[in-house]
Amino acid sequence: MESILVLTHADETGVALTKASLETITAGNELAARLGAEMKIGIVAASPQHLSKGLPYAVLAVQGEPFAQARFSSDAAACVALWRAAQATIVLAPHSSRFARVMAAVAHRVGGAIDTHVTSIAGSSDVEASRWYYRQRIEAVLARTTRPWFLLLDAGTHAPFELDADAPPEEIAIAVELPMLRTEVTGLRAPQQNQQTIRPDAKLLFVAGAGWTKKQPDGQIHVEDAGELILAFLAASGASLGSSKSLVDQGGEGNSVLPFLTHLNQVGQTGSTPRHPKGLATCCHGEEPHVVGWRFVGERRAVSLDPNCGWTRGKADVVYVADAFKVMAKVNEKLGNSQ
Ligand SMILES: Cc1cc2nc3c(=O)[nH]c(=O)nc-3n(C[C@H](O)[C@H](O)[C@H](O)COP(=O)(O)OP(=O)(O)OC[C@H]3O[C@@H](n4cnc5c(N)ncnc54)[C@H](O)[C@@H]3O)c2cc1C
Repeated sequence: MESILVLTHADETGVALTKASLETITAGNELAARLGAEMKIGIVAASPQHLSKGLPYAVLAVQGEPFAQARFSSDAAACVALWRAAQATIVLAPHSSRFARVMAAVAHRVGGAIDTHVTSIAGSSDVEASRWYYRQRIEAVLARTTRPWFLLLDAGTHAPFELDADAPPEEIAIAVELPMLRTEVTGLRAPQQNQQTIRPDAKLLFVAGAGWTKKQPDGQIHVEDAGELILAFLAASGASLGSSKSLVDQGGEGNSVLPFLTHLNQVGQTGSTPRHPKGLATCCHGEEPHVVGWRFVGERRAVSLDPNCGWTRGKADVVYVADAFKVMAKVNEKLGNSQ
């Protein structure tokens, strides 16, 4: 008989669980219902008291200042202690940077196995975990006999668990024997929110292609206008910014083409495969190595001057054969008026 432990952690405010943690609780909830298994939730946070509120499960929590920050030694010790208290056969955890770097060690310390980048869990009598290989080209379904089996779930694959306002906050404090702590986080340096263009939780992915930097029908290039249009749209819509490889590669040659773009924005076979409900490609040809990165984008639209581009050949749901400079200027105007 399986038993489930869902490991979660606080977000940077410390007073809420991360969205990915809530998604993992949904996955655990569904799995527990299918298997008829007992489920517990483990929390790693400095003050878990606020965080267990609304969770209709037995909650095990470590607490104290050492768990306010992500650090290998304290997080690994915390997860091992939570597992020892729960003794679960299946452990689900979000594939966050905080947990991804400790969970293989945790699985090893408790004699278990681990699989990462899990996107779904199926099976009514057995546990079947799915993940993708070869840049999302092959989907594999994994089953293991080793227990405990740790599964790190990719963000965006499940709906966040809705907290039950009637469930009283209740958790069992779990003591952790901490090793010597040699690392201390003294501060965080992050781009300001309005400079941060990669927003994994955004409803819309906006992709800029190399066409923004090409000669336009007037025979001129308009890179500055392109930059202003794109940044204005991102600010007004809250969309996440993706790019084709051709566009970010231009920046890499020492040319400051669109200075806010880096290779981290690149979507595709050699870039990222983000998950957003909607995507809008602009000035992008929609070639297969780019579009393969759109596998998990729900509804796809594109604006391209080329009526024969890849998007029109079945890669998008809607294609506007139009000048993206004009379309985005009009869209920005409408967004400005609606605010
Ligand atoms: C091994 C390998 C891996 C690769 N990996 C990736 C990857 O991860 N990601 C990726 O993106 N690519 C990748 N590529 C490259 C990919 O094949 C394409 O070359 C690239 O995606 C093309 O970028 P693009 O569509 O922006 O540029 P282009 O092909 O130059 O297309 C520009 C488009 O903009 C349109 N346009 C121009 N002006 C306007 C306007 N005013 N309004 C509207 N449309 C306009 C043009 O009609 C054209 O269709 C890879 C290639 C290889 C070989």
